Amino acid sequence: MSVEHAAVERADFDQVMVPNYAPAAFIPVRGAGSRVWDQSGRELIDFAGGIAVNVLGHAHPALVGALTEQANKLWHVSNVFTNEPALRLAHKLINATFAERAFFCNSGAEANEAALKLARRVGFDRAGTEKYEIIATVNSFHGRTLFTVNVGGQPKYSDGFGPKITGITHVPYNDLSALKAAISDKTCAVILEPIQGESGVIPAELEYLQGARDLCNAHNALLIFDEVQTGMGRTGHLFAYQHYGVIPDILTSAKSLGGGFPIAAMLTTEALAKHLVVGTHGTTYGGNPLACAVAEAVIDVINTPEVLAGVNAKHDKFKARLEQIGEKYGLFTQVRGMGLLIGCVLSDAWKGKAKDVFNAAEREGLMVLQAGPDVVRFAPSLVVEDADIDAGLDRFERAAAKLTQA
Ligand SMILES: *Cc1c(COP(=O)(O)O)cnc(C)c1O
Repeated sequence: MSVEHAAVERADFDQVMVPNYAPAAFIPVRGAGSRVWDQSGRELIDFAGGIAVNVLGHAHPALVGALTEQANKLWHVSNVFTNEPALRLAHKLINATFAERAFFCNSGAEANEAALKLARRVGFDRAGTEKYEIIATVNSFHGRTLFTVNVGGQPKYSDGFGPKITGITHVPYNDLSALKAAISDKTCAVILEPIQGESGVIPAELEYLQGARDLCNAHNALLIFDEVQTGMGRTGHLFAYQHYGVIPDILTSAKSLGGGFPIAAMLTTEALAKHLVVGTHGTTYGGNPLACAVAEAVIDVINTPEVLAGVNAKHDKFKARLEQIGEKYGLFTQVRGMGLLIGCVLSDAWKGKAKDVFNAAEREGLMVLQAGPDVVRFAPSLVVEDADIDAGLDRFERAAAKLTQA
């Protein structure tokens, strides 16, 4: 059963799409594992992973199987009814984490929106109308809804959209004294990324997260970890909080949770969850059976000692070679991050030119990411084959050589 499609090309983008993205010149049409093919049949190695989404690469048999099986059973019933995949997925996430309750939605921004609304509602229910202040960090990223761009610490994403949402303070990341100075009994929540992803792959210091936990306890504020980018095995633990041993009150997950199928979750305790009583929050697609069936398969594959240990081994492999390349070509000064979320900090000579590195890599048949203008980011599949790592880094080295010799 093959359907005839009209031919489309990259140029169509500018004719039919809202111009809020600037996609690359080629169009990917097929993927398998860590390889992707474009319209012309050119093969690329994928170290971008759909921005830390394709956690098991492309067309992983377990995910294709779960999706296909569910597609033949039941696609959608709305939250007027519950469904089996959603309940099973909630059990799996709860069994694997601190959490006792799950709320499903469709994107990282929505999961954070739910977390922030829950925090404000808990503050309101417990302490009244004055406990609504949210503390976030400078350069943080929490999504693109109006609430989450205001909570995010990058004004370029919230400027020019009308009045800002009030009751939000931004403090420098990894600066415990700044957090201590800002927090008060009016604070309802502190929201942190355990590794700041979009703004340069900057891991939190252990003392910072521990200190934030203590300050939240002292002021009856909730600690929210935005694990949209760091979760689902990315750091070599199912969630990054497990690496640090600092337990949040609310955790958000998206990106890798669905391995490429849109789904997100807000996880929390029973005592907090009960504040979102019937009618206080919701979304039509949240907990959709197709999405939950895929996410179940993702967690089944990822939350195993073999895959998680493999992430750390692959990290070491990436890091050693990237440090070598960085030094040899004077391209970057530091390779940082955890597990398979890796950032290469460009040297002074290449500062602001992450896009040039992205383009040079693409010309060699390699997909990488930027994390701001000064950092080249890698977020490959957690099960990327060692042979693909070697081949991809060979391509990256060729790109670095050509770029620095040009
Ligand atoms: C990507 C990201 C988001 C937003 O997720 P969307 O699915 O794009 O809404 C939020 N927080 C962090 C840390 C992210 O990396």
